[in-house]
Formats: sequence, C-alpha cells, structure tokens
Amino acid sequence: MHELPVTEGILKIVLRHAEINGVRQVIAIHLQIGKLSDLEDEWIQHYFDYLSKGTMAQGAKLIIERTPIILQCNSCNTSYEADMATIGDAVCPACGFIHFEDPKVAVAAFIEDQGRTLLVRRAYNPQRGKWALPAGYVDYGEDPAAAVIREVKEETGLDIAIAGLLEVSGGTGQFGASIVITYTGTVLGGVAQPHDDADAVLWLTPTDALPEIAFDSTRNALAAWQKRHNRERSGEDPA
Ligand SMILES: [Zn+2]
Repeated sequence: MHELPVTEGILKIVLRHAEINGVRQVIAIHLQIGKLSDLEDEWIQHYFDYLSKGTMAQGAKLIIERTPIILQCNSCNTSYEADMATIGDAVCPACGFIHFEDPKVAVAAFIEDQGRTLLVRRAYNPQRGKWALPAGYVDYGEDPAAAVIREVKEETGLDIAIAGLLEVSGGTGQFGASIVITYTGTVLGGVAQPHDDADAVLWLTPTDALPEIAFDSTRNALAAWQKRHNRERSGEDPA
C-alpha cells in the first residue's frame, strides 16, 4: 500500500506551495499519474482526506489524469503510445521494429569466512533498513562473475574470490531484477565496512538469530545454511 507515503508527499508539496502563495483554502489538486503506475485513485483520495484533516487542503478534490505510456523506437526514434498489454513487445508504427523487454540481471554474493556469512543493511529503498546479501545489477556487457566481485568491493570494501554458483532465480522479487545469480565467495582481503548502497555490515554465524531480511530468497538461503552448519556441528560433537 504505497499510496500512503506518496499521498503524504503530495500533501507536503501542496501545503508548501499554498503557504508560499498566501492561499487560505485549497479546493482542488490536479495530479498527473503515468498509466504504468499501480497507484489507485480511490486510495490516494482516501489517504488525502485523512491526512489533510485540519490543514488548508482539507476537503480538496483530487483530479487525477492518467498520462499515456510513450515509447521511443530504438530503430527509427519515432515516439508512440503503448498500452500495458503490449508494452513487453510493442511494435513501432513507423518502421515495424519490435521492442522486446530484456530481463534485468542482478548478482548477489553469499560470502563465507571463518564460518560466518556477510550481510549488508540496505541504505536505500526498496527494503531500506533490512538486511540482504551484497548485490547489484550487472552492467551491459559485463561478466556476471566480475559484476559480483565489483559489487562486493563497492558495498563492503572486501576483495573476494568466487567459490561457486549457489542459485539462479527468476521472477521480479528481488529489487526489480528478473534474474538473480547468487555466487558463493571467499574473502581474499580487506575488512568489511559499509559503503555505497549499504549502511551497515554484519557477519552472521550459524547460531545467530536472523535479523530482518529484505528478500524471501535470502531468508531461505540463510536458514538452509544455518541448518546445514548446525547439523554438521551436532554430527561432529554428539554431546
Ligand atoms: Zn521505428
């Protein structure tokens, strides 16, 4: 339900401009929202009515206009309108070029060092403040293995070597990427410190309680890792 923070933002802007311009009462607010947005008009009005109580915007009517989805052809630069149903493979009306939506690829690192694994706290949305594996997008033309080494360095300062491939997952679950490649890695050097998209780092042990994890796939991978380690340990030491 992200209409609430969006509506808070709208009200803040309205009140600021009303004050600057010496307005006593706001009657109506014209909003333009792109057709790709999943914000729902009724919810915006509902939250607005609630949030604006006691302000000079109380009772204001939101007039919401949906702006069209405009694509530009990669081949001939013609701009044309598309709809939600065909946006993944829209055809240019001028030259017939078909635009295919390519998957966005991300990489993540499951780093093990001295029996612990490394988590970073996300400094930005989505899932700001929650914990995740060091991760990021693969640049165009970049080897995913090189991308994960780069991302770990950027977010934690650590140099890692790739040990293997843990998982390749599809969908749109993790920060909007449609393919996430998770590598296992070992530390070559450096001391983990938060940088870039991370504002804290944590070395998790198999017996630690999980902090608040950003993504289901990470939570599952960590739980499996902890279970495996704890089982191995109890196998070694029957006491
Ligand atoms: Zn074209």
